[in-house]
Amino acid sequence: MREKLCKTLVAGGAGFIGSAFVRLLINRDCPRSRLSTKAGKGTVPNIVIVDKLTYAGDLGRLEEVRGKFNFYKADICNQKAMELIFKKEKPKIVINFAAETHVDRSIKDAAAFIKTNIEGVRVLLDTCRKYGIKKFIQISSDEIYGEVTRGKFSENSPLSPNNPYAASKAAADLLIKSYIRTYNFPAIIIRPCNNYGPWQYPEKLIPLCVLMVLKGRRTPVYGKGLNVREWLYVEDCASGILAILRKGKLGEAYNLGSGEVSRNIDTVKLLLKQLGVPANRFKFVPDRPGHDIRYCLDWQKAKKAIAWKPKTSLRLGIKLTADWYLKNKGWLLLSKNNDSALNK
Ligand code: NAD
Repeated sequence: MREKLCKTLVAGGAGFIGSAFVRLLINRDCPRSRLSTKAGKGTVPNIVIVDKLTYAGDLGRLEEVRGKFNFYKADICNQKAMELIFKKEKPKIVINFAAETHVDRSIKDAAAFIKTNIEGVRVLLDTCRKYGIKKFIQISSDEIYGEVTRGKFSENSPLSPNNPYAASKAAADLLIKSYIRTYNFPAIIIRPCNNYGPWQYPEKLIPLCVLMVLKGRRTPVYGKGLNVREWLYVEDCASGILAILRKGKLGEAYNLGSGEVSRNIDTVKLLLKQLGVPANRFKFVPDRPGHDIRYCLDWQKAKKAIAWKPKTSLRLGIKLTADWYLKNKGWLLLSKNNDSALNK
């Protein structure tokens, strides 16, 4: 029998990865994700989601598990709101996915990134301390290490971010590290590589490419498409996060990679082929300023510590992703979802 899940608060649970994690938690870990309350007064969900529902947040991602969580539309930067939620819900575990996440937006204007990704994390940390939570998990990013032209980044590699998004995520990691040392704060940091899969907002490369195909347009590819990324299917990422939540050691950081390293141009061609359109249906556009040339993670620590490895190859993941978007064109074509993405 699986261990009973403690009351868990998921910040950013209406986002792309956060919602995949919540679906996994509910479907696999606790299909009856409800705790009995005292004296038969009914039941309450033991998963609490806090999300500001920015342009990137969407409760539609959680439709299949509706009713199995409590939801609060709130900003993690709002200390008062966080305190009220913590006071009422008394979570024991907090997992933070909430963030501004798109590098291009951070280059245009870093303000929201500094606010949510640093100050928002500070508010969560202080609220967690005040309410004595048992475990805090921060979802960080491989981008905090900067670029690596050869070899891989381990968890001990220096933090050397090259764009405002990455810098804001690195700052949060450092703040958490300081809380671990200063207050013996019970945190774990997880650094996944590039995620892809169903329900991703179409400003990121893979769903953008599908959207462009649906609109009969060419996918914009930065520079000559030679930048290399490591790709992790979102459901594998969610299972890695769940394994770290259960078996990870407090105070540690864990990389979550896949070994599926590919040049952007090759990833786009693979996807175009899968979508049944000519592999040249893309156009090169001027490179992103400060564009990191290559990311690659050493994730042996996670593999050994939590006995996790991704199940989905890039080839299979791209097929599953393309099939999902073609079946769910309606979501991709919603004006909320593609107006801003198309104006890149
Ligand atoms: P996303 O943009 O899809 O979702 C972010 C969620 O956070 C949204 O639901 C949004 O409404 C919410 N949010 C934003 N600001 C908030 C605030 N101030 N208060 C409360 N909620 C707020 O992002 P994602 O791709 O699901 O990424 C989740 C986490 O994983 C982020 O921390 C990101 O840095 C990290 N990460 C993402 C990737 C990737 O490839 N997508 C890779 C590595 C790490």
